[in-house]
Amino acid sequence: MLPYIRQDLAQFSAYKPHPGSDSTEPVTTQYDRLDTNESPYDLPTEFKEKLAWTYQQLIETNRYPDGGHEELKNAIADYVNESANLSKSAFTSENISVGNGSDELIRSLLIASCVGGNGSILVANPTFSMYGILAQTLGVNVINVARKEENFEIDLKAAQSALENTQNPPIRAIFVVHPNSPTANALTDAEITWLKKLPEHILVIVDEAYFEFSQNTLVSEIQKHPNWVVMRTFSKAFRLAAMRVGYCIANAELISVLEKVRLPYNLPSFSLAAALLAIQNRQILLDTIPQTIDEREKLQTTLSQQPQLKVWNSATNFIYLKPQIKASSSSSISTEDFLVNLTQELRRMGTLVRHTCGGMRITVGSPEENARTLIRIQTVLEKLYS
Ligand SMILES: *Cc1c(COP(=O)(O)O)cnc(C)c1O
Repeated sequence: MLPYIRQDLAQFSAYKPHPGSDSTEPVTTQYDRLDTNESPYDLPTEFKEKLAWTYQQLIETNRYPDGGHEELKNAIADYVNESANLSKSAFTSENISVGNGSDELIRSLLIASCVGGNGSILVANPTFSMYGILAQTLGVNVINVARKEENFEIDLKAAQSALENTQNPPIRAIFVVHPNSPTANALTDAEITWLKKLPEHILVIVDEAYFEFSQNTLVSEIQKHPNWVVMRTFSKAFRLAAMRVGYCIANAELISVLEKVRLPYNLPSFSLAAALLAIQNRQILLDTIPQTIDEREKLQTTLSQQPQLKVWNSATNFIYLKPQIKASSSSSISTEDFLVNLTQELRRMGTLVRHTCGGMRITVGSPEENARTLIRIQTVLEKLYS
């Protein structure tokens, strides 16, 4: 341990994009990469060519990028209004902040609300791990509550009680994902009602990273609740994970605070150009979504027929499942061991999936990848149970 480093950092490990990978080589096309919820479709060639042209003709590499993001913010505001059937002026660039991935925005929100002993955060597990990880690296206390096993609804009683009883510092921010990762469920009416009732001194962050797959947004609530922020990303449906662009929507005063705490040139010129191109051509880029949803239904239906698996309904581009092992089974194996074996066997066959929180998350890939996923899972189940 280095003597000048904060002691609490000793317990953390660096983020690993593909956990379980033993090699230091980047994981590439030799695998079906179904563990990180990206789109299976790269940007179409015509757009790559357009971007290359932009890079060659318009981007001055010796100059800092546009640090104000005004053009991109305007385009995002248009899209946000359109996607929620709101009037063209409902949200403007003053309601948008752009980050180097949503991860940067999560960090900015934590800095703005909780850092320095100002607040703790509340999360309901299982959920996106970055909220807790980023909070802890900033020295922010994380309060965890559970979800109901049947539908992964937040244990609202526990959440309310945590809210009332947490002191020094009190809970200042609540992070929810709509729909949730890794469990793929949208917020329920009861959860939304509870969130709406939260007092204005508590920041409510609704992460809509998978909005384009669920078509279910709470963005219009921002107009009624000045303590709400909605986050979105270009990393999933917009097929731009490599570019690291996320954004959030909130009232103008909160946005101006987020603008204060972010790094001045947080987005490279190339990423700004890519995001702008993507949002201007959204009809074309989002055209693959119906197919992804069809494929998701197929995966869900077929995997549900496996007696050893319990599969939940999904409102996103991934599915969540858990082993369903009978106590009387002759090959008595624990749930965790079952998941470890299944994950390892699938990896050996060439499919990466995410084993997390006592379950397994599988991204919906291309039709070919999904067909392989089904065959491979069936093969492993037969092997493990023979
Ligand atoms: C993938 C994902 C994001 C996107 O993060 P970026 O930093 O924008 O790539 C955000 N939130 C959740 C819940 C996600 O699953």
